[in-house]
Amino acid sequence: MAIYKRVLLKLSGEALMGEKSFGISPEMIERYAKEVKSIVDLGVQVALVIGGGNIFRGLQAASIGIERVQGDQMGMLATVINGMALQGALEKLDIKTRLMSAISIEQVCEPYIKRRAVRHLEKGRVVIFGAGLGSPYFTTDTAAALRANEIEADVLLKGTSVDGIYTADPKKVKTASKFETISFAEVISKELSIMDQTAFTLCKENNLPIIVFNIKEDGNILKILNGEKVGTLVK
Ligand code: UDP
Repeated sequence: MAIYKRVLLKLSGEALMGEKSFGISPEMIERYAKEVKSIVDLGVQVALVIGGGNIFRGLQAASIGIERVQGDQMGMLATVINGMALQGALEKLDIKTRLMSAISIEQVCEPYIKRRAVRHLEKGRVVIFGAGLGSPYFTTDTAAALRANEIEADVLLKGTSVDGIYTADPKKVKTASKFETISFAEVISKELSIMDQTAFTLCKENNLPIIVFNIKEDGNILKILNGEKVGTLVK
């Protein structure tokens, strides 16, 4: 029996590059799909938010001489491209999916409507939320936090390229140590930047736990759903 009934899984766009320096690695998209399938097979209701950092981030806009809002919109469209790729990879594994976008692109996917999203989940379809929140100046972490609250997920699973929350950046500080559990208050007061502060605040106010874990290690999502301690639990 899985310990959570409905989860929102945030997948990093950046990790989707794999060994490449841009775009979608075929191995990574396949791995994401297999990881998702492992918990769909347990009967867990799965909603996904995928980032866009492997294609475009709003902050890059200035470097090519365009304004931030336009850049953010490009970033949001990048998340739709990733969502489509993920949808394709999941369908190859015979998983029923729906892609919903916060920006209307009706020839490509459905608009985001909360009640419809919940209905899809109840019918066992994996729902992918594309285009973040549809508004500039936000990130897909915040979109994941908001959608998780809206659909009343039991937990927000944040898959990233480190295996949890550390006292400092483990790539820079050798003595940094990992938290097994940490409170929202501590994560916010210490400004631990593994996720946006806005995302943490939203989850704190609504008592929605977050688990930060390494998505590059096979089997982690299944372990979490089986009740094993993986990554860092924020509550
Ligand atoms: N974005 C946005 N509003 C949102 C979600 C995303 O403007 O609600 C834009 C923003 O420019 C961001 C980009 O989309 O940089 C890609 O998302 P993100 O950087 O969160 O992706 P990740 O870091 O997970 O790859």
